[in-house]
Amino acid sequence: MDEFELIRRYFTRPARRAVLGVGDDCALIAPRPGYELALSTDMLVAGRHFLRDAEPEALGHKTLAVNLSDCAAVGAEPRYALLAGALPDANPDWLEAFSRGLFALADRYGVELIGGDTTRGPLTLCVTIVGEVPAGRALLRSGARPGDTVWVSGMLGTAAAGLAVLRGGLDLPEAESRQALDALQRPDPRVELGVALRGIAASAIDVSDGLVGDLGHILERSAAGAEIELSRLPCAGWLRARLEPAASRHLALHCLLAGGDDYELCFTAPPSQATRVLAAGSEAGVAVTPIGHIVEGAALAVLDEHGHALDLSGLRAFDHFGS
Ligand code: ADP
Ligand code: MG
Repeated sequence: MDEFELIRRYFTRPARRAVLGVGDDCALIAPRPGYELALSTDMLVAGRHFLRDAEPEALGHKTLAVNLSDCAAVGAEPRYALLAGALPDANPDWLEAFSRGLFALADRYGVELIGGDTTRGPLTLCVTIVGEVPAGRALLRSGARPGDTVWVSGMLGTAAAGLAVLRGGLDLPEAESRQALDALQRPDPRVELGVALRGIAASAIDVSDGLVGDLGHILERSAAGAEIELSRLPCAGWLRARLEPAASRHLALHCLLAGGDDYELCFTAPPSQATRVLAAGSEAGVAVTPIGHIVEGAALAVLDEHGHALDLSGLRAFDHFGS
């Protein structure tokens, strides 16, 4: 199977909304009048973002999901994707499962794969996503203001617990272990929620590198601080139970506050918008939980069960170039 046969067989579908899809030197799209294009790229490298023997269908899902999550964070509707892949070989079973996982998620949101690049090399997958958002209405990191409530969708820490299970650092009963691995391998991007929060949220980000780091990005761009409460962070009961015993507290705190791969939305909104935020959550079918508020200054404080600020220095967000 040569490169062109591979592209034709696994990654080519007729263009629907696009003016021109896979097969020419460029794809062509016509943005809807009155909309801005939201563009983002996310790269997944084997051995760094996923384990080398990752199940290919789940990997196809996650490769697109992490990009849809960026669209969600700005409140854009995902429309088109480009896929650049370096593959060690052209394994038909792997390609079939990978493209099945990718297209299943693409179809769920009406996203069209309109192009890409394919080369031989160490397994690396890079999707560029194109979304649409009504002009001037994208949710930005820079909009948080003192007094805003800080919210988070879904549950935090489950995916990081899944990674700990895979690495042998955490022992969970069968059902919990499955839940944790599923969160890690098949994240659900919060696309509907991001769209529903347009005009309601003041700022937003997706939690890909852990709450402390990602909320920190909102604070930096908004020139503000925040106070959040550990006891209000939404998480699985089995993870909360591990906060209590000293032996498991550090890992549980790490999962909740610094564990990556949650792909939930963290956003802020004035308290007057609380009812609309809750309505947006139910419209999108995902729980939204208030976890604290924005304050003057630049510091992020996470208060423990006794109201004392936790020492966050040992819980740094994932940073590829950090020491
Ligand atoms: P070029 O030589 O112009 O870079 P290619 O031969 O790499 O073009 O690709 C041929 C066509 O297939 C192009 O339309 C390109 O966008 C598309 N394509 C290549 N790889 C992929 C892929 N992995 N997924 C989707 N489309 C792809
Ligand atoms: Mg090419």
